[in-house]
Amino acid sequence: MIPIRDDLRGLKPYGAPQLDVPVRLNTNENSYPVPEAVVEAIGKALQAELRDLNRYPDRDAVALRADLAAYLGHGLTTERVWAANGSNEVQQQLLQVFAGPGRTALGFTPAYSMHPLLAKGTGTAWVDGYRAEDFGLSAAHAVAQVERHRPDIVFLCSPNNPTGTALDPAVIAAVLDAAPGMVVVDEAYAEFARAGTPSALGVLPGHERLVVTRTMSKAFGFAGGRLGYLAAAPAVVDAVQLVRLPYHLSSLTQAAARAALAHRDALLATVEAIKEQRDRIVSSLRGRGFRVADSDANFVLFEAGPDQKAVWRALLDRGVLVRDVGLAGWLRVTAGTPSETDAFLEALS
Ligand code: PMP
Repeated sequence: MIPIRDDLRGLKPYGAPQLDVPVRLNTNENSYPVPEAVVEAIGKALQAELRDLNRYPDRDAVALRADLAAYLGHGLTTERVWAANGSNEVQQQLLQVFAGPGRTALGFTPAYSMHPLLAKGTGTAWVDGYRAEDFGLSAAHAVAQVERHRPDIVFLCSPNNPTGTALDPAVIAAVLDAAPGMVVVDEAYAEFARAGTPSALGVLPGHERLVVTRTMSKAFGFAGGRLGYLAAAPAVVDAVQLVRLPYHLSSLTQAAARAALAHRDALLATVEAIKEQRDRIVSSLRGRGFRVADSDANFVLFEAGPDQKAVWRALLDRGVLVRDVGLAGWLRVTAGTPSETDAFLEALS
C-alpha cells in the first residue's frame, strides 16, 4: 500500500464520463467548434511563440491579464486580474492562500462539486451550508450559516451549477457584510445570464475580500485551452503570487487565449443561440410537465422522475449523454445546438 494522506484514502477523483456518443450534453461545454477565422488567428499566434519555447513564459502573464481586464470592463485593470489554467486552478490557489489546514471553507450545495474537492485537496475543512428544498438560497439563511461557522472563505456560485439559477445580488451583499473572511463568487456561466442579472464585478469597488472568478471554458468555447481568471483587489492578486507555481501558464496558453480574446465577437456570437436553446429546453420540458429550475446558464436542471439513473441510461442508449449530478430525481442537460436540443427532446419523449 502506498502512503497516501489519510484524509484522501478511499476518495474518488472528480470526473464526468468522457464517452464518445453523438450528442454530448454533460459537461456544459460550448457545442460550437471554434470558427475557422479564429482557428487561423490562434494558429498564427502559437506559431509566433514556437521559436522562443526555449525560454520560460512571462511569469506574470501581464499582456493576457490586461486583455482580460479590458474584456471585463467595470474599470478593471491588470493589477486586479489574475489568470491560471482554468478557474479550477484559480480557486485552488485561493484556497491555498486564504484557507488550508486549520481553516474552513463554506459552500451551499447543491453547487459546483469541485469546491469541496478543492477544499479537501488543500487540507481545508469543508462546511456545507445547504440550500432550501427548492434549491433557493436566501440572504437570511446564508448569513445564518456564515455567522454559525465563521468560515475563512465562502464559495457562492452564480449562476449556480448544477441548478442554473443566478443568485439574488442581495444574497451576495449580505454574505459580504457578514463574512469574516474571503467571499468567492464563481461566475463561470456569467455570459449566459438572463437580462437584468448583474455580475458581482460591479460590487468589487470597496470590497477587498470579494473575489469573482470567471472562465473562458464556457461562453468562449475555449475549454480545451484551459484559461480561467479572477477579478479582485490588487492585494488579492499579490497574495495569490505566494502560492502560484512559477511559469504556471505556458506561453502557448497565453498566446492562444490572447488570440481568442482578440476575436471575442466571433467566439461570443454563439452565446445568444445557446441561450435560445436553453430557454427552449426549459419551456418544452415545463410544457411536458417536468419540474425545471430557472436557468441563467448554458444548462438546465430538470426533474427526471424517481429513478434518474434509469432515465440517464435510457438517454445514453439513444445516443444522448446528460449529467447525473447525484441529486436524487434530477438530471442536468447542457444547451447546445438546435439539432442537439432536438435529439435530447426526442430521446426524452
Ligand atoms: N466553476 C463552475 C461553476 C463550473 O461549472 C466549472 C466547469 N465545470 C468551473 C468553475 C471550472 O471551469 P474551468 O476550470 O474549465 O475554468
